[in-house]
Order: sequence, then structure tokens, then C-alpha cells
Amino acid sequence: MSTTLVPTLSRHDLAGGEVTSYVGGQWLRGGGGDRPVLNPVDGSVLATVATMTDEECDAAVEAAAQAQQAWAARPARERGELLRRVWEILVAETEDLARLITLENGKSLADARGEAAYAAEFFRWFAEEAVRTPGDMRRSPAGKNWILVSHEPVGVALLVTPWNFPAAMATRKIAPALAAGCTVVLKPAMETPLAALYVADVVREAGIPDGVVNVVLPRGTGPAVARMMADPRVRAISFTGSTEVGKILLEQAAKSVMRSSMELGGNAPFVVLEDADLDAAVEGFMLAKFRNGGSACTAANRILVQDGVAEEFVTRIQQRIEDLRVGPGLAEETQVGPLVSAVERDRVADLVDRAVAAGATLRVGGTRPEGDGYYYPPTLLDHVDPASELATTEIFGPVAAVTRFGTVEEGLALANDSEAGLVSYVYTGGLEQALAVSRRLESGMVGLNCGLVSDPAAPFGGSKESGLGREGAHEGMLEFMETKYVATPYA
Ligand code: NAD
Repeated sequence: MSTTLVPTLSRHDLAGGEVTSYVGGQWLRGGGGDRPVLNPVDGSVLATVATMTDEECDAAVEAAAQAQQAWAARPARERGELLRRVWEILVAETEDLARLITLENGKSLADARGEAAYAAEFFRWFAEEAVRTPGDMRRSPAGKNWILVSHEPVGVALLVTPWNFPAAMATRKIAPALAAGCTVVLKPAMETPLAALYVADVVREAGIPDGVVNVVLPRGTGPAVARMMADPRVRAISFTGSTEVGKILLEQAAKSVMRSSMELGGNAPFVVLEDADLDAAVEGFMLAKFRNGGSACTAANRILVQDGVAEEFVTRIQQRIEDLRVGPGLAEETQVGPLVSAVERDRVADLVDRAVAAGATLRVGGTRPEGDGYYYPPTLLDHVDPASELATTEIFGPVAAVTRFGTVEEGLALANDSEAGLVSYVYTGGLEQALAVSRRLESGMVGLNCGLVSDPAAPFGGSKESGLGREGAHEGMLEFMETKYVATPYA
């Protein structure tokens, strides 16, 4: 098998054809063998990926390394303007990108449109951040030296992203890395490589130089990523995915003390206290649980409701869940599409079956549908034991697990009883209690009377086993920069 360059590959033809990698500004048909991308609606083949060999992945690292110095040397204003151009194209093509996301991931078009807009926004935000790299000049306390502090790009960054937000997880890393002056090699999830290639083609059209952004589709993910991480030219790993894989990558990063940013799994508590505005809580719950069909690291996973409002809240969400329209993502009326793969659908279905066998009360859904496609019905389980498998596992699907509790202290203890600490949601009325509870929730982010926390201008990330570092905001660019200090004795 040998590598071939493909003269043109339109981002508008990604679904339906053969899909290649993007290396050094060229489309490269890898020699690692074919692999299908499946349409979750019916399991049909959407595209065929020509995977890459180890040597071809090395070539991507080489391309990024070659492009690094010149890209870092470009004035920040020019880098920012190129990023802004990417944003403009992505905004103009939101609908095309959304349809591609739906095709390969299965999510509803409404969710995909939201993702495409969110994905684009990272380029606008970091176009603006590129020209605001912080730095300062301080006097040493001894009065002898000046301390000059600057931030320098780390170099070539390896980016690894999941299938649940195939465009936004890529742009949330590419944009800050480029703003910082880094070049990148992106390895998207093999279930959903098309959106990342779409973004690569927009980057090319915007005029970002060859080699600055490379997208690799390796034959074997684990070994290929390990090999690239062992390459001394790679200076940073930025990963979004499961905690399990994040831990493997941290071990690999330890070998070269590689700079590591980890956006890992969550197990978000959604706490409803007795003084909450229940209308708002129900709306927030629907968003926090069913956006993206529940396949979100920020998805509400444990619905913790105080006894005094529990029956009313559960009755109201039951009605809303029964009303959700399930179907193919491309149908405008669909609110919940299929899961991304048969493996994911079966994992979620088995989890629910075991929870019911263990004593949880099934109020809606819970039956695995017959027929084509990776569908699973929106499901509501009540009286879930907080120590059970369902409550301690990231469900990552359209399944709501309710646990009831008595006092605010009990609710807080339940919410914090998790190794994950990505996001917590709390609905409550009083300002004092709202702030006190928000402060005591052990997570990197809190949705306070708010069912959605994702915002390119906010520092997104988790505590405990949900990760290291932050994406978005000012912090996102600094993940790709090294703090540097120069001591000089001039008076
Ligand atoms: P995953 O960990 O299985 O895969 C993520 C990426 O890692 C994919 O590109 C995959 O190909 C790659 N990968 C798998 N094994 C690897 C290995 N041994 N070495 C290197 N790379 C490897 O996760 P997933 O199933 O694609 O996504 C779901 C997970 O992602 C959930 O746990 C979810 O919470 C998490 N996630 C987190 C965030 C966040 O910002 N914290 C955002 C989205 C998703």
C-alpha cells in the first residue's frame, strides 16, 4: 500500500466518497487500509477513510514542525486576521457543516446547528485573543533586577478529539493553538472524522499556511498517538475524551514531561432544591440532559431532587420526555437522533436494563427498539440508588436517573460524591443559598439556575478526574504557551 496525493477534495463532498488525511497542505490518501464511517440512522456506509501508516503520521508531525517557526514569527495581528477569516467562512457555511455533523454523528439538526455555530465562534474569540498575549515587567524585591515575563508558543501540539462534538472539540483546540503561535496535528475520532476535515479545508481556504494544521486518520489510534507523543518534536498533548484514555495519555506524557491539557469525562449532578423556580428547572433540565441526545460531557447525569418538590418535578419532566420526538437527525422535527454507534446504543441499553433489575423505577422508555439505526428512546428512571452503577457511570445517552434527597446538606453530599468534577447544575431561589451551594459544589463549572455552561469566552474544564487545564477564555490560549522570564540588571 502506498500513499497518494489527491489533487482536490471538496469539503462539500466529504460524505459519500473516499476520505483522506490532510498533511502539509495536501490531501493525502493514506496507505493504512480502508475503514468505513457509518451513518447512525441506518448503519449504511457514509464514507470510506483511507487510514494512514505510522510513517505517514510521522510526516504530519514533520509538516507541523517545518511550519512552526514561520507561523510563530507571523505578527499576532496577521495570525488573528487569518483566524477571523476561518470564522467568517464557517459562519457563512453553518448549515453545510451542521448537516455533515448530523450525518456522521446522528444528532438532531438543531443540535448540529448549535454545534456548528459554537465551533465557528472559537475562531472569532481566539482571533481577538491572539493580539492580547499577556506579559509584564516587574522589579525584583531586592531592587537589582528587572523581571520580564512573556508567553511563548510551546511548539507542535498534538490534538485528540472525541465523536460527540466532532467540529467544536476540534476548533476549541485548533483556534487557541494557532492564536498562540503553535502548529498542530489533529487526530479526530474515527467514528466522526468528516467534520474535522471540513474545518481543515476551511483553514486552507482562509489562507493559513501549509503545515500549520494537519489532520491524521491513523490505522491504529492508540499506537499512532503513542508514537507521535514519543516524537521529540511534539511538545504538547491536548486531549478531549474519556477519563480512561486521558489517564493512558498522561502516563505517556510523563515520559517526556509533555505539557498536557485534559478535558475528560463528567458525571454532572443536577440539583433541584425546594425553593427553585420549577418552570426554569424543568427547562434547564431538558437542555442539560437532552441536548446532543445526552452524549455530552456536560450532560446532567444524576438528577438530585429535594423531597418537597420531587414528585411534581418528576411528573413534569416525565411529560416532557414522553413528548420528545425521536427520529433521523436530518428531519427538522427531530429532537433526539440515534446514538453514534451500535456499541454506544448497546452500552446505554445494557446500563438501563441492569438499573431496572437493581430496583430503579422505570417511568418512561427503557426498551431497545427493533429495526435499523442506533436509536434508544428517551428514558426516565426514578428512585435510583446513588451508589448504583447507573449513578456512578457517565451515561452519555438520553437517560435521566433521578434520586431524591431530604436536606440541602444531603443533596450537596450526594452531588460531590463522585470522582468526576466537570460541571454541576443547581436550581434554587435564594441568592445566599445559591452562592453558598455553588461555592461548595466540587466541579470546575457550575450552572446556577442555568442548564448550559459552554461558552467560548468562559474557561471550560473540570476538577478531580475530569481533567487538567481549561479551554476557551483567556486561559485556553495559555494552555499552548510557556511562561518565560528574563532577568536583567539594567537600572
Ligand atoms: P474516547 O476516550 O474513547 O476517545 C476520544 C479520542 O481518543 C478519540 O479520538 C479516540 O480515537 C482516541 N483514543 C482512544 N483510545 C486511545 C488511546 N489509547 N490513545 C490515544 N487516543 C485514543 O472518548 P469518546 O468515546 O470518543 O468520547 C466520549 C468521552 O469524551 C466521554 O467520557 C466524555 O465525557 C468525554 N468528553 C469530554 C469533554 C470535556 O470537555 N471534558 C468534551 C467532550 C467529550
